[in-house]
Amino acid sequence: MIPQVIAILNHKGGVGKTTTTFNLSKALSLMTQKVLMIDIDPQANLTIITGEENPQKSIYDAFCDDEPLPIINIAPNLDLVPASLDLSAGEAKFIAMGIAGYFKLKNGLANIKKNYDYVFIDCPPSLGILTLNSLIASDSVIIVLNPEFLSIKGLTTIVSTIDNLNKDLNLSCSIMGYLIAQTERTLLSKGFEVELKKTFKKKVFENVIRRSVALKEATASKKDIFSYNRNSTGALDYLELAKEILVL
Ligand code: ADP
Ligand code: MG
Repeated sequence: MIPQVIAILNHKGGVGKTTTTFNLSKALSLMTQKVLMIDIDPQANLTIITGEENPQKSIYDAFCDDEPLPIINIAPNLDLVPASLDLSAGEAKFIAMGIAGYFKLKNGLANIKKNYDYVFIDCPPSLGILTLNSLIASDSVIIVLNPEFLSIKGLTTIVSTIDNLNKDLNLSCSIMGYLIAQTERTLLSKGFEVELKKTFKKKVFENVIRRSVALKEATASKKDIFSYNRNSTGALDYLELAKEILVL
């Protein structure tokens, strides 16, 4: 299989990007897919919840020194490139490097992506140089949305950012789909789900991720949802999403 590099994106925080990167990656790894997760968020939440809080080397070191990306094995079929807090100080540094500063991740992945079926990039909640690095390195994007007021606001910015990058740099990054996460059993939530599906049509994943206490608890105990409670709705939802993505 040709490796697929997929950015998990929304410039809003708290929508479920990191939770999705971790649990979707784990679900696919359980289905014998080889998966690499990349943490490019200076908050390093993904790195923290995988229990790799103090990595010897992080993506920041690799970007600064043009070294190979550091890879940590997390579970069978599942690897991580960790982030560290100094990545936020690095942003200005990468901007100062000019165009080379935008291609750090693409170049870092060039030699290693062949070892994987899927590479998922957990983006920071901004459209700064780290997210641009992710988009430039990606074949496609999953945009995570919550079914709430204003959730569609700002999406045109994301879409035009991708369009402009494609045009300016002659890339072909596409939108794989919109993932509705943290849905609730309320009329309001259902109403927004319907609205989002009407707006984005077939681009919305059929499977949504329900709001689940177990997902929150799993994060807090630094576990993926399958290790924490494989019978939870969260585990079921991410497994179904993984199946949907496998046949795309
Ligand atoms: P982001 O990476 O977009 O900032 P996170 O994945 O870190 O968002 O999620 C933010 C918070 O919401 C975390 O505490 C996480 O545990 C919680 N969370 C994410 N998805 C769900 C869900 N489906 N149900 C319940 N809590 C969730
Ligand atoms: Mg996050």
